[in-house]
Amino acid sequence: MANTIFSEEEIQQFRAETKGAAHKIHFNNAGSALPPDVVVDTVINYLQEEAMNGGYETEFKYKDELENTYNLIARLVNANPDEIAILENASTAWSAAFYAINFKPGDEIITSEMEYVTNLIAFANAEKKSGISVKVIPNDEQGNFPLAELEKAVTPKTKLIAVTQIPSTAGGMVPIVEIGKIARKHNILYLVDACQSAGQLPLDVAEIGCDMFSVTGRKYLRAPRGTGFLYVRKEIQSQLNPIFMDGFTAELVGQHEFKIRNDARRFELYENNRALVLGLGKAVEYALNIGIDKIWQRIQFLANKLRQQLKAIDGITIHDFGDEQCGIITFSVKGIDSTEVKTKLFEKNINVSVGKASSTLIYMDKNQLSSIVRASVHYYNTEEEVGVLCRELKEMMQ
Ligand SMILES: *Cc1c(COP(=O)(O)O)cnc(C)c1O
Repeated sequence: MANTIFSEEEIQQFRAETKGAAHKIHFNNAGSALPPDVVVDTVINYLQEEAMNGGYETEFKYKDELENTYNLIARLVNANPDEIAILENASTAWSAAFYAINFKPGDEIITSEMEYVTNLIAFANAEKKSGISVKVIPNDEQGNFPLAELEKAVTPKTKLIAVTQIPSTAGGMVPIVEIGKIARKHNILYLVDACQSAGQLPLDVAEIGCDMFSVTGRKYLRAPRGTGFLYVRKEIQSQLNPIFMDGFTAELVGQHEFKIRNDARRFELYENNRALVLGLGKAVEYALNIGIDKIWQRIQFLANKLRQQLKAIDGITIHDFGDEQCGIITFSVKGIDSTEVKTKLFEKNINVSVGKASSTLIYMDKNQLSSIVRASVHYYNTEEEVGVLCRELKEMMQ
């Protein structure tokens, strides 16, 4: 694969279409990627039009484009547009699905050690409020999710399997397609946190076999901050009771009766930021035009390069486990606190982030990690940038 995924001209084109790439080395794509200029311009222009012509009037003018965001997201994940709700972030999207499930005392949830903090808080909350219990399947010694253990953990009381495909603070991946087969076989609800996955690698909800699936816009999708979406499989929508409803979500048919919409927008409310919805659509379209397959190959190529080069540096420990790894590279630098590493790199114009134990608590505690440095690569990064990062890290340790 190597350099042939994109030509040098194509990479220069992506960078030319991304203002930030010209003056920053941005390895914080898992935090918030640099958006393409077309995304930023779309949002700004829409806001200008609202200011000039009125919010409702501008919405009317752009109604087809706004609607098209649902079509684009549906294409991205191989769903139908009526299975998509656009929300303001992944935590809202995930929670909208989770809290809509009718748990009964005694119900069980199965998850993995890679689960994200929002989700773990919701589980703890449901344990207290609904009398459910949560089983965590630890990874095996190689850092892989043990499917056989999941099979063993399923009981007639298992109501939900909820996993995160790509954790926030590790480069490994959870096998969501194989887990989906087990969920389907036992007819268990299946909720996937694909927050770090969307825009990074191909996603197909039919292949995954999930019922619900949450995503944020600002990370690998390169969409504006404050955007996200939720997929909910058509067949299960009516089983879920949205917690928030307004006159868009439901129709009040009498003082004591209401009828909830019969599409995934039952999880939205009327008011949202239309400019951002349009920006999200543009970001998805931009990624689709480049090709998610190619994006994923390029990310793996750069991630491998960075891991190889980091491994060769004395004093750097890489923490990513598992057979399959993604664009998130996590490591520690001997004798230097992760936050200080981040600050020092920032002074050199390089953006990385720090992963804290609390964001992926079960995994981090098990591996006795309190914080790690996280460098997350995207397709618009270059091999030269990877080289600069490694050089600066070496210098830092001298
Ligand atoms: C960032 C992240 C989230 C939360 O996304 P928000 O848009 O900040 O709510 C959820 N899951 C994972 C794995 C994440 O990395």
